[in-house]
Amino acid sequence: MAKKVHIPLQLIIEHEAIPKLYKSPIGSWIQGARILLISGSGSTRKVTEKISNAIEGYASEVSVLTCQDNKLDTINDIERQVLEDTPDLIFGVGGGKALDMSKVVGTRSNVPVVLFPTAISSDAICSPVAVIKMMSQSTSIGVKMPQAVVIDLDVLTSCPPRLMSAGIGDLLSNKTALYDWKLAHQAGKEEMNTFANLMANNAVDSFMNLLNRPELNQSQLMKVAAEALIMSGIAMSIAGSSRPCSGSEHLISHALDYHCGAKALHGEQVAIGVLFSQYLQGQQEKIEKLTPYYEKLGLPTHYADLGYTREEMHRAIVKAPSMRDRYTIFDEFNLTEDRIDRIMDEVYPDQAKNRYCLTGLSVG
Ligand SMILES: [Zn+2]
Repeated sequence: MAKKVHIPLQLIIEHEAIPKLYKSPIGSWIQGARILLISGSGSTRKVTEKISNAIEGYASEVSVLTCQDNKLDTINDIERQVLEDTPDLIFGVGGGKALDMSKVVGTRSNVPVVLFPTAISSDAICSPVAVIKMMSQSTSIGVKMPQAVVIDLDVLTSCPPRLMSAGIGDLLSNKTALYDWKLAHQAGKEEMNTFANLMANNAVDSFMNLLNRPELNQSQLMKVAAEALIMSGIAMSIAGSSRPCSGSEHLISHALDYHCGAKALHGEQVAIGVLFSQYLQGQQEKIEKLTPYYEKLGLPTHYADLGYTREEMHRAIVKAPSMRDRYTIFDEFNLTEDRIDRIMDEVYPDQAKNRYCLTGLSVG
């Protein structure tokens, strides 16, 4: 059965990618085109300006819309403006929200999208999924993959280390997600796509191998983290769902968002979820193996690091299995409240508080 897989046609990750944009492989797309930049607010606007300056004189028209949030009303408003005066290309510039907004608007209005991430805080930088806010709750929806992704490493240099740590937390979750996918497949609940599985797995492995190199510098780290997150996004596109990169650990993060006030970044919450999922998956020894990576990456090892109380974390674990109709390790356990308490004591001991969280990356 023929199935179309969408992947970006171009991927540019280098220093000075924006000033050299016209000379890049997407230069010919820009020539004479009407381009709409959908920009995040705050410091992103400086990057948007930089892109405008780089393409002025080549594009026939450059316009900018700023989005403050990812609410459905805002998306509808931007989509209406796009449909009234349809551009040839949309450039999405920002962290998570502006990128998601661009993907949704591009999909709905059938305009190709080029993403310019200003931070790599999650695998949203190149995925067929966007998070939007509906009725004050975040919801994931399917969208078209971007036509290209341009990452200027000079822009990423000014990205707060916390955002990048979160992005890597999101990447580490591929391991527990793939374990859950295998379980779902064995239980006859879902098909397995070996190629997507391989890509998502190799994305994490390539990153972790690099972390062990003594000569690693910040620039290499950013590049490989970005590449690994992009490979994860492509794995999702091949699988036709977020399965390769989202399992029980993501259900815990979704429950923290939905039931406990969404107090931390997606990738930070996912990193906390990974520790619990690994325990359930019988990979306790891996928690110890992962700890040095958490240390190096400045990732949290305790929910209290993210501002959650024990009661909130407990609630999130109770609610996690019902967050999405997705077979995971949770379906193979009868997790009573007592059992959750006992596992929490083991996975999140008091001495795990404030170990590495928010120290930022320590390389170079
Ligand atoms: Zn994620």
